[in-house]
Amino acid sequence: MRSYYDENEMNKIIDSFSEKAKTYLKNVDTRSVSPTKEALLNLTKLDVPLQDSSIDSALVLQELDSVGSPSTIASTGNRYFGFVIGGSVPAALGANLLAGVWDQNAFSELSSPIASYIETICRKWLNTLLNFPPETEVGFVTGATMANFTALAAARHSLLKRVGWNVESDGLFGAPPITVIVGDEVHASLLKALSLVGFGKNRVVRVPTDNHGRMKPELIPDISGPTIICIQAGNVNTGAFDPADQICEIAHKKNAWVHVDGAFGLWACATPERKQLTKGLEKADSWAIDAHKWLNVPYDTGIVFVKDSKSLTGSMSQNAAYLVQGDNRDPINYVPEMSRRARGIEVWAALRSLGKNGLIDLINRNCTLAVRFADKLRRAGFQILNDVVLNQVLVSFGEPELTNKIIKRVQGDGTCWCGGTVWQNKTAMRISVSSWRTTEDDIDKSADAISRIAKEEISKSVLV
Ligand SMILES: *Cc1c(COP(=O)(O)O)cnc(C)c1O
Repeated sequence: MRSYYDENEMNKIIDSFSEKAKTYLKNVDTRSVSPTKEALLNLTKLDVPLQDSSIDSALVLQELDSVGSPSTIASTGNRYFGFVIGGSVPAALGANLLAGVWDQNAFSELSSPIASYIETICRKWLNTLLNFPPETEVGFVTGATMANFTALAAARHSLLKRVGWNVESDGLFGAPPITVIVGDEVHASLLKALSLVGFGKNRVVRVPTDNHGRMKPELIPDISGPTIICIQAGNVNTGAFDPADQICEIAHKKNAWVHVDGAFGLWACATPERKQLTKGLEKADSWAIDAHKWLNVPYDTGIVFVKDSKSLTGSMSQNAAYLVQGDNRDPINYVPEMSRRARGIEVWAALRSLGKNGLIDLINRNCTLAVRFADKLRRAGFQILNDVVLNQVLVSFGEPELTNKIIKRVQGDGTCWCGGTVWQNKTAMRISVSSWRTTEDDIDKSADAISRIAKEEISKSVLV
């Protein structure tokens, strides 16, 4: 009888992978951060007519590595400052790979006792680290978008239950209205989450923000009836925090639900140095955070936190005769998905390896490096548009066309990678320092490359 499992084939692929991984990670800091045009053109080599017969797995991996690795963005390296993208700390990467070997289905205690147990541990650790109430319940989802979605569904459940409406059974048609209040600088993904839970993106009340992007609490309208206030910990452009302390006080007097979108910024709750930013965040009702951003675990993991666990399970749990409930945590009751990978594993490993001080050091180091980046660019004569309170820096080089041209050239140059944005009507380059690997030398090299390119483009624009 032929056996399908071939130990040699499996060992060969693991050895071959291990060599390829070492080579990739060894080169990631010295190669161009953007892939070359040639590498991208080579991607068509993967588009072969699907053949009839099976081929050797090692060959498949070889093809994928030789064509795919050079065409990746080196975002796991040390000079990638686009969006808010962290790398992977070694323990999290190792745990991710081991989790792949385990191939656990994390939906229940029965399907994966370790997935269930590790989520319980992470819940305890994270509530302590972030200074959230100890009873706060968690769910492991794909990212902050889904964490926002899940928290809003929990808020919807709770607020409507209080007025005698079962939204899970009866839906939103005919339900008592819920007022949703957001800051004017709300993240696009929160608006998407609002649209998915049936609240509508345009139905929200937008509260004006200051020039850092912070909601002005004195302009929150009078609250009556079921209300959710969505606040932000870490504006994606400036890194600014909405004043949570004041907002929670206003909200809770009127029994409104406060949700915090803190995809990266909430990690600052772990650092005593940033207390002035994070003050009052622990008073919210729900929170969304990304582990794949500042905790530096591989994609994809976000975490939703809901203080009242019944609101979360009320909106998320599902039942069927074959889904025997475990004695302990069944992750299915806290997230929208059923089958899913065991996301808690990398979070556990990252936290275990970093320890409290390692996490604090990672956050503080990135913030200090962001200040260094801003100082260097300012000294080179460019305008920094934001107060660098966290890990975000906004740089303007003047006119929008010029700034965009410089951003494009920076990306093509390959020393580092920065994206663009428009901040309060000004076109700017966005820098986000989010990787555990980034050093002072990386900041200096990157700032030098940006200054060189910007000066060249500026002198060209003057000549024209
Ligand atoms: C990144 C981000 C999100 C979306 O997170 P995903 O993990 O990409 O879904 C939401 N809010 C803020 C403030 C973010 O920075």
